[in-house]
Amino acid sequence: MKYYMPTIVLEEDDIVLKSEELFKSLGKKALIVSGKTSAKKCGALDDLTTVFDKIGIEYLIFDKVIENPPIFQNVEGAIFGEGCDFVIGIGGGSPMDTAKGIAVLLKHGAESYMDKLFGSKDYDALPVIAIPTTSGTGSEVTPYSVFTDDELKTKRSMARRVFPLYALLDIKYFMTMPIKVRNSTIVDAFTHAVESFINTKSTPYSELFSLKAIEIFAKYKEELFKEEIDKAIFREFMRASTYAGVAISQTGTSLPHTLGYPLTYHYSVPHGIANAIFMAEYFKVSPKLRVAKLLEILNFEKVEDFGSFMDKIVGTYVDDLDISEEEIRKYTELLLQNKKKLKNHPLDVTREDVLKLYRESLGR
Ligand code: NAP
Ligand code: FE
Repeated sequence: MKYYMPTIVLEEDDIVLKSEELFKSLGKKALIVSGKTSAKKCGALDDLTTVFDKIGIEYLIFDKVIENPPIFQNVEGAIFGEGCDFVIGIGGGSPMDTAKGIAVLLKHGAESYMDKLFGSKDYDALPVIAIPTTSGTGSEVTPYSVFTDDELKTKRSMARRVFPLYALLDIKYFMTMPIKVRNSTIVDAFTHAVESFINTKSTPYSELFSLKAIEIFAKYKEELFKEEIDKAIFREFMRASTYAGVAISQTGTSLPHTLGYPLTYHYSVPHGIANAIFMAEYFKVSPKLRVAKLLEILNFEKVEDFGSFMDKIVGTYVDDLDISEEEIRKYTELLLQNKKKLKNHPLDVTREDVLKLYRESLGR
């Protein structure tokens, strides 16, 4: 059994403003990686540039990362950021993941980028600092990066493992999320925790984190139906997201993530919702004892009750989807090819199981 978590997590109000020494120790020039608007809107970019200006660290801002980032954004970012000593990702999973890919290419050059990001030879990366602003991916403490692959027409994980050196968590950055992003990301964190718990690689160490994250979701799940969530409760969701990230950093995710990727690719279903759509049916193909434990923590008597709760969250998204039987068959084959993910699931799943997972979850 192995437990390895090298990321230093600093959680505190105004932590970015208080991290002068930390930034100075990493070099003289930083590449800041973000999406178009949220890093400014939530205040993180301002905090960061205020400190950098104060301590004389030069910086470049690559603020072009789009949701579900395509692979080429790593190349763009690396060319733009040439000469930087370290990389800071501010945002949800999309900019944090891209910061990791860019950090590999900045260190080793952007030529032959597919090999450097996805090939078998290992390449290390420049130091990465992650500043999350969504309560979902846990990317601030995972070694993973997920990119959209337009050739495979789905999403795939980068082969390189890049743990951020530091994760800087400040609750104020989370408070500007629109409700749809908030709920999708809270649910993403929940699915991470569940998929880590129902996993061949689950260990007593990873379960400390996965079960704690699930407990927090169980306690506050009705908050998802409110317009606003109180800051103190939001802090719990923020932690749940990081705990779930620690859990999947040990185990990886499992079937719902792989089932959901094509829905995001072809139909722009938000990532967390795409996983959540499959949760109840996934419980039905999972080991009974594990599922019983989850239902107990979540306070549902039967899988069907849990399913009804999840339906309230994913309902309108599913209603809007019109996915043909032919597409379902295509997505099923895609999942069956993903041997690594299948290995994470403790029971055998057949082609019929996967078809049923798609059909039932999509209400067909
Ligand atoms: P995201 O794609 O990074 O961002 C979604 C949207 O939320 C964007 O429009 C973004 O705006 C906005 N936003 C982010 N923070 C905000 C804030 N505080 N206030 C207002 N708006 C905000 O969302 P995500 O769900 O966190 O990340 C999803 C990606 O992470 C997917 O590609 C997924 O596959 C990946 N993922 C990675 C891991 C991992 O371990 N690395 C795990 C799970 C998922 P801007 O565009 O302006 O920033
Ligand atoms: Fe996820």
